[in-house]
Amino acid sequence: MNHDRTGFDALDVARIRADFPILALQVNQHALVYLDNAASSQMPQQVIDRLVRYQTTQHANINRAVHTLSGIATNEYEAARRTLQQFIHAREDREVIFTSGTTDAINLVMHGYGRKFIGPGDEIILTTLEHHANIVPWQMLAEEKGAIIRVAPINDAGEVLMEAYQGLFNARTRFVGLTHVSNALGTVNPVKQMIATAHEHGVPVLVDGAQAAPHMAIDVQDLDCDFYAFSGHKLCGPTGIGILYGKAALLERMQPFKGGGDMILSVTFDKTTYNTIPHKFEAGTPPIAAAIGLAAAVDYLSGIGMQAISRQEQSLLEYATGRLQQLQGVRIIGTAAHKAAVLSFVIDGVHPHDIGTLLNEEGIAVRTGHHCAQPVMQRLGLPATSRASFAFYNTMAEVDALTAGIRAVQKVFL
Ligand SMILES: *Cc1c(COP(=O)(O)O)cnc(C)c1O
Repeated sequence: MNHDRTGFDALDVARIRADFPILALQVNQHALVYLDNAASSQMPQQVIDRLVRYQTTQHANINRAVHTLSGIATNEYEAARRTLQQFIHAREDREVIFTSGTTDAINLVMHGYGRKFIGPGDEIILTTLEHHANIVPWQMLAEEKGAIIRVAPINDAGEVLMEAYQGLFNARTRFVGLTHVSNALGTVNPVKQMIATAHEHGVPVLVDGAQAAPHMAIDVQDLDCDFYAFSGHKLCGPTGIGILYGKAALLERMQPFKGGGDMILSVTFDKTTYNTIPHKFEAGTPPIAAAIGLAAAVDYLSGIGMQAISRQEQSLLEYATGRLQQLQGVRIIGTAAHKAAVLSFVIDGVHPHDIGTLLNEEGIAVRTGHHCAQPVMQRLGLPATSRASFAFYNTMAEVDALTAGIRAVQKVFL
């Protein structure tokens, strides 16, 4: 740790980068500048090693055998659940369900809670900032049940209008889905306050934490959210794994999403008795290796400290924002007062797709498009943006490379 001017212990980014073998790659004869962390972040050697150790010394199917390896794999899988429980400060480990990711977790809530408790004329509140993963499942439910979706609007900066949000609640409101951090704009929603509003009306809230869990400490008890979902691959972990946190009392009242092995206590052709939570929601063989890898990723991040990670990313965001503001013809999209690690922008006269292609020639990876959040783009009157998204292993020098890359793009289109 270095002591920086602000008096905080700044991260030793050079040492951290050495943990990530992929960051040493050359792309198009340039050092890779990886600024697509909001789509997927990279994996440190510690997590890779953990996966190798599992596959080489611990792998077997869980829960169904008395043999030694099965016992070890079961213990490691359940230990991974407890690591995730602690990471989000859940009250009990059975409140953590392993899913294949955020999308799967939200679909679980839609099928398990929505299809049981939401009916014709009932209302679901979402925000304009939602990722498609927190829109489409609710539209499918609304279509099936004759329910209605209400959308909390945003201002030009990309902040949800709180009075308008509060005004959406009525006697028919049954559910709220909120993103914690917008993947397209970086806006951090005041979710704690928004959850309190919903609870005043007796309405449960699902928080889509896909862009929050990698960047800040999450405390589900403090937030008092009813459900919280995120993906492993945006958190330096493997793909194909994520979690759904749910309050035990709610999970117990829900119906299963998928049927099959492990989610049952007994099966006859007359009647099946479901297993207790969390197993009721984990049908079939789960992604055992990925769950253990996710726990290793969480241990890695916790070792650095989520506060230190937040501070490092905030300084990157502030520095990058300042640099882009100085560039003529570049406009930052999403100027909320409270943002995390995402910088969306447009360049006058250049299509975002061309920006992404030309930056790639310099080894710079950014994402261009609608970022699976088309309603936000429609609201801001844009077809697409370019998006640089940061992780704690990014450097100020990489921000400078991005700025230089943008200048070079502008020259091509002059
Ligand atoms: C990435 C993302 C999702 C979807 O995550 P998957 O890992 O693709 O399931 C949902 N919401 C937000 C805000 C995201 O950024």
